[in-house]
Amino acid sequence: PYPALRGPVPLSHLLLRRFIQPGNRVADATCGNGKDTLLLADLVGETGHVWAFDIQQEALNRTAQRLAELNLQQRVSLLHVGHERMLDLVEPPLHGVIFNLGWLPGAPREVATCTTTTLTALEASLQLLAPAGLVLITCYPGHAGGDQEAAAVQEWATSLSSRSYFVWRMGQLNVTSDAPFCLLIQDGRPSDVR
Ligand code: SAM
Repeated sequence: PYPALRGPVPLSHLLLRRFIQPGNRVADATCGNGKDTLLLADLVGETGHVWAFDIQQEALNRTAQRLAELNLQQRVSLLHVGHERMLDLVEPPLHGVIFNLGWLPGAPREVATCTTTTLTALEASLQLLAPAGLVLITCYPGHAGGDQEAAAVQEWATSLSSRSYFVWRMGQLNVTSDAPFCLLIQDGRPSDVR
């Protein structure tokens, strides 16, 4: 069956499936319910590794449970730490980093990502990327506070040199103008393995 491309998350998963390979190292900057972490753990195989960050223990518990159900927990380091500290905690180079901004569905909305720490983590992600590696960011301009964060992240991504990075904006058009969208940044250095 083909995936339903409703909103940016399934589109980001399609890209991850195309790019992330067994043996790769990747990070989930906002593990939340663990859906992205689970996909990444599957894609990197037994020889790869996933670093998954969240500041809420509840998110890490939900993710740990999903991973255990599929016996994938050994491929993932679950870190109860803000993604702004990523630079010190992962082992580069990373072939992919995924951000799903906003709040954990079903948890208090006050614990959402915030612009300053998100931008720090995005800068760190670029430093950690392998040649041709990807950063994927799902932004929620329709959420309270998410509008400013989405605008700041888009402005930051737009400012990246087109010689060093390929930057894309992907959003469904036949929805409200404040619907979620996805930004994709690819490290522009060529990679021999792809
Ligand atoms: N990717 C998740 C999934 O597949 O279910 C959804 C992520 S949810 C939209 C956003 C998550 O970011 C929340 O769980 C929240 O606790 C987390 N978060 C907020 N600030 C953070 C930070 N500074 N570092 C890491 N995670 C953070």
